[in-house]
Amino acid sequence: MLSLVARVCIFCGGTKMSAEHVWPQWAAKRVAYSGVHKVRSYAHLEGHQAVEHESDQRAYALKARVVCESCNNGWMSKIENAAKPYFETMLYARGRELHKEGQRTLAAWALKTSIVWTASYAKERSVIPTVDLSHLRDYGEPSSAMSVWIASYDGSHPAVADAYGIAANHKEDGTPYSIWATTVGFGPVAFHLFGSTVPGVTIESIRLPAWVHRIWPIQKTFAWTPRPCCTDEQLKAWMDGVLQQFESLGVQPLASQA
Ligand SMILES: [Zn+2]
Repeated sequence: MLSLVARVCIFCGGTKMSAEHVWPQWAAKRVAYSGVHKVRSYAHLEGHQAVEHESDQRAYALKARVVCESCNNGWMSKIENAAKPYFETMLYARGRELHKEGQRTLAAWALKTSIVWTASYAKERSVIPTVDLSHLRDYGEPSSAMSVWIASYDGSHPAVADAYGIAANHKEDGTPYSIWATTVGFGPVAFHLFGSTVPGVTIESIRLPAWVHRIWPIQKTFAWTPRPCCTDEQLKAWMDGVLQQFESLGVQPLASQA
């Protein structure tokens, strides 16, 4: 089993470390795929070599040792438990109305999962800025500067994560900023997250496919349904498209960022 390791807790610096399942263990029993499947991840920090994992293992078995016992059993477990009832209906491929609290809870879960996953690539610099980690820990939700979308997914990977981070220079004044995006697939549900420190640049102008709903900042109530849904290719194109469009709005990757 692949194990991802950090020396101190990525959230609080605590040293009494604890291993956390990247995808919730309870879900392994509820999904249709019970055997060994491919689990893949792709992380690319501008200026660093892309880190790619693809391994055969039991989906949902992946653990990351990047948080302390106190965070894992405290506020993180609170988010996990709050999200579970929403996922339970979705994992049985039933539609689900998502009101404000549901959108907030799922957005927090998606960010927590993205952080735990991407922490394994944080040797020099994390994809997700520290400010987003502390906001989640302190308030139990993403900051208002972040965006989270949800979609239905019908691809070949029951547990999948992609992460991109780009260190960028603003076209106008050359100021360095960072933008990042992650995609997390969980059974029939996929999340896409986006954050940036570029002032005055919004994500509003980005056109979204019909199978995508935004859940953060919170939108009006809607029903998540298993159809229409996206394939593996569409999921990847969704993420790449957001980043490409963002670059065209006024930021470009640095040639090198150590
Ligand atoms: Zn901690």
